[in-house]
Amino acid sequence: MPHPVTRLTSALWVAQSRLYAMNSGLWVSAGTACLIDPGIRRDEMDRLVQAVAAQGLQVAALVLTHSHWDHILGPEPFPGVPVVAQAGYAAALHAAAPRTRRVIAHLEAEQGVQRDHPFPLPQPDQTFTQTMDLPVGDLRLRLTHAPGHAADQLTVYDPASGTLWAADMLSDLEIPFVSHSLAAYRATLATLADWDIQTLVPGHGAPTSDPAAIAARLGEDRAYLDELAERIGRVVAAGGSPAAAVAACAEIHFRHPAANAAPHRCNVESAYAELGGAADPAQVGWSQEV
Ligand SMILES: [Zn+2]
Repeated sequence: MPHPVTRLTSALWVAQSRLYAMNSGLWVSAGTACLIDPGIRRDEMDRLVQAVAAQGLQVAALVLTHSHWDHILGPEPFPGVPVVAQAGYAAALHAAAPRTRRVIAHLEAEQGVQRDHPFPLPQPDQTFTQTMDLPVGDLRLRLTHAPGHAADQLTVYDPASGTLWAADMLSDLEIPFVSHSLAAYRATLATLADWDIQTLVPGHGAPTSDPAAIAARLGEDRAYLDELAERIGRVVAAGGSPAAAVAACAEIHFRHPAANAAPHRCNVESAYAELGGAADPAQVGWSQEV
């Protein structure tokens, strides 16, 4: 059975996938709704379709927080609903299209999904560059470009309640997956640190409204990225190798060390290339994964 769609705040419902604990959102106000990253499995999307129908909601928009495969499956079950994404979405989707198609084909085959044509990669109906306001009933959701994990990532924020949909950041399960840019990720978190965040929903893992937990996730993730930048920067300045960067970062503290060992290594290799180390960014780290 798919996990239920549960009410997190007066305006936000959340459903968590059995895959990667990925969260899908349903903002609701005055009979109007906005979906965030519906997914991942078919039965989970069907449950969101039922939740919309049961409340008789008019779905005004479907927001894709970024172009990674696990976040883009949702538009198909909601035909006619305008898809909103950041301006870099189409290029990022195109760049990763072969792998995205492969992973989705595998996922659908495993669920017994039959198709005449391959999965249609969703294209946005509306995009923005830096920020945009999205009215949903009485809500004014603010979408903001938030690069670092992905070049096209966005966050969704409700200023009235201080609720932040953080896309693939600030998880209690994952460390920062720096699959786009370390510099951009640090800048994005520095910006978020100034926001009034009363409720935090990560793309993967547990939402929280505990001020201490919100501060801890932000503080830990910023400290982790600072450590990466400092240690790898020193290795690069000394003309060190990728292996030297990995060794220099072996003692960095991060959450769930066993589960996050591989992402940490990808972070180190990609950051080494980004900071000017002697490696082709297309041949190391996250380039081999996403
Ligand atoms: Zn992602």
